Amino acid sequence: MVSSWQTRKLGTSKKIIVRPNIKFIFIGEWFLTTKVVFLDRDGVINKEVGYLHRIKDFKFIPGVFDACNYFLSLGYQIIVVTNQSGISRGLYKEGDFNILNKWMLEEFQQKGVNILNVFFCPHGPNDSCNCRKPKPGLFLDAMEKYDIDMSKSWMIGDKEADIEAANNAGISQTIIVRSGHKINEEKTKASFIIDSIPDAKRLLK
Ligand SMILES: [Mg+2]
Ligand SMILES: [Zn+2]
Repeated sequence: MVSSWQTRKLGTSKKIIVRPNIKFIFIGEWFLTTKVVFLDRDGVINKEVGYLHRIKDFKFIPGVFDACNYFLSLGYQIIVVTNQSGISRGLYKEGDFNILNKWMLEEFQQKGVNILNVFFCPHGPNDSCNCRKPKPGLFLDAMEKYDIDMSKSWMIGDKEADIEAANNAGISQTIIVRSGHKINEEKTKASFIIDSIPDAKRLLK
């Protein structure tokens, strides 16, 4: 918080009075508020195939680039948060994930979409980490790194664990998609249910 007038002592004798620049504070708040659309990867960005780790098996969901461009045009950043227990299970290596991830980010880049970052959990259900969704660790790491306003942010996922993780991290605006895992539409805690990511354009303003 900035007080209306601050008196600052310089050395022992000089005193200066610093008047806060109202315009700067206003603009500062405008720019410093980072709002994010968090995306799960498998089932939201690409078709869910189970322990996906090869580029050749990665199929983008139709309309995902257009939707992401729309989110960016609204002033949102985009961050991917993904459980990758296949690494802990020994089904693929972290290096495989990184290769696929780099390729995915380049594909987005070619469509004009800059993904701010990708946070992933390499652990399995028995590793008792704090990052495997529904734990909020991936979101909290992102929040700390980018000073994100969670109250203005959204989560789009295809599993209840995505929605719970977001809720656990202080995000209440959540969307579950029908384009991935089978969802329970009666029981979901998500704020909205949609067919797939392009339909989120109706919800975010
Ligand atoms: Mg998923
Ligand atoms: Zn983890």
